[in-house]
Amino acid sequence: MFSTMQDAPLSIARILEQGSGPHGASAQVITWTGEGSRRRAYADVGRRAAQLAHALRGLGVTGDQRVGTFMWNNAEHLEAYLAVPSMGAVLHTLNIRLFPEQLVYVANHAEDEVVLVDATLLPLFGKLLPELKTVRHVIVSGGDKAALEAPKGVEVHGYEELLAGQPVEFDWPELDERSAAAMCYTSGTTANPKGVVYSHRSIYLHSMQVCMTDGMALSQADRALAVVPMFHAMSWGLPYAAFMVGASIVMPDRFLQPEPLVKMTAAERPTMAAAVPTIWQGVLQHLAADPHDVSSLREVVVGGAACPPSLMKTFEEKYGIPVLHAWGMTETSPLGSVARPPAGVTGEQLWKYRASQGRPPAGVQARLVGDDDQVLPWDGESVGELEVRGPWITASYYGDDDPEKFHDGWLRTGDVGHISPDGFVQLTDRAKDVIKSGGEWISSVDLENKVMGHPAVAEAMVIGVPDEKWSERPLVAVVLRDGQQVDAAELRDFLAGSVAKWQLPEYWTFIPEAPKTSVGKFDKKRLRKQHADGELDVTRLG
Ligand code: AMP
Repeated sequence: MFSTMQDAPLSIARILEQGSGPHGASAQVITWTGEGSRRRAYADVGRRAAQLAHALRGLGVTGDQRVGTFMWNNAEHLEAYLAVPSMGAVLHTLNIRLFPEQLVYVANHAEDEVVLVDATLLPLFGKLLPELKTVRHVIVSGGDKAALEAPKGVEVHGYEELLAGQPVEFDWPELDERSAAAMCYTSGTTANPKGVVYSHRSIYLHSMQVCMTDGMALSQADRALAVVPMFHAMSWGLPYAAFMVGASIVMPDRFLQPEPLVKMTAAERPTMAAAVPTIWQGVLQHLAADPHDVSSLREVVVGGAACPPSLMKTFEEKYGIPVLHAWGMTETSPLGSVARPPAGVTGEQLWKYRASQGRPPAGVQARLVGDDDQVLPWDGESVGELEVRGPWITASYYGDDDPEKFHDGWLRTGDVGHISPDGFVQLTDRAKDVIKSGGEWISSVDLENKVMGHPAVAEAMVIGVPDEKWSERPLVAVVLRDGQQVDAAELRDFLAGSVAKWQLPEYWTFIPEAPKTSVGKFDKKRLRKQHADGELDVTRLG
């Protein structure tokens, strides 16, 4: 028996209508310009999205062609987010931080036909354009289109000129909710980047999860500072979620350094903000030297990499701002789990819950798989690879067979950890990044967090390095805070109280800067290579 319910497709067009209609006058997108900001009401965003859709139709986007964006977080990028999927085309957010050859690969692989580019990114984009085989139109936003030299067969347009005079309403087509809405390539530190294609349905459901109280609790009363780039896992779903519930959104554009982030927070008073730990480390360091009022923040969301507990505690103890730790992947839209502790938990137990990766919501099923593919219990001890499935988890990669990443319909996350009986995931490592010393696991993440708890340490990365006796041992690469001094022996003593003796690292190196991936995470592959090439000055403690 079927239900009597209407079979209304879940679509981005509904999100667009909700944000630009009922919330059209009250909610705004606020884009930082360096000194101040420019504001646009959601009603105008809706009208301009309609104009953009008409303009794209005029350029031949009549079906599911891919429309790329090479942009920072700003109002025009939001317009593309809404217009492109709603008209039935596919938004492809190009990660401007990928290596040029990776960018060429992804744009060609996705067969992008039109690309919207921020004028400030033209010097970078101009170098790629001659290699982009399927691009026919480039639309330049926020500057002079003449700055781009177009190869034969490519037309260059100005964003505002293209929109001018277009109708401000669009008859959004009724689409199959399972059809492609947007795509994003994983930064792929190994092999070629892999494309994840989100559907209208997956984005709609994921946006609802972002807004749920035990998600990011986004509501019309909020002003979200979206630091996480719109080209990295769809800015963690914030643009769509904000438009869905009528929360205003603050977009930093290209001003992602600690100083402007602090300035825009003081000026625009966001109620929540989301970014990777590296960004927050920088913000805290800046705030300590140059205090600003950041009291508008009711919560700060940290994810994309493990959040060091020292970061959480500083935010909370110094500024009274709670940190919400969340885990996810490009493949999981990205919200996979959120660390909201159960009611009534206090003291150290509370910190344990909050520092974990959190509990997957109803839309995400999780399991742990050990060696030999056996499913492990949620006992808070058994360590295995995390596998997930659900309506906003990818089932494959676009045009790229990678059966290794999927297991009986579950996504292999490559993340390793345990799950408590009440469903909290605690990651201890990545599958390819675990340190197995004498047959026992050492968590590199745990060591990093502990070393970063030392006041002289700005950042610490831990990798496994070959060791004759133990097969592998941890190597700690330390970046010191400006003007601070500490040696390896002191740091080892500092760890001695909180780390089992056999886990205490004997290999240490001091580096001026931690190698990072295009999305600002520790690039362990590069560090491993530097070590293998003998480029690191390693101290061995006895
Ligand atoms: P990406 O698709 O680039 O966002 O990378 C996803 C990966 O980042 C995950 O598989 C994890 O390895 C890592 N990651 C994301 N969030 C967290 C977190 N809260 N704690 C630890 N690792 C994380």
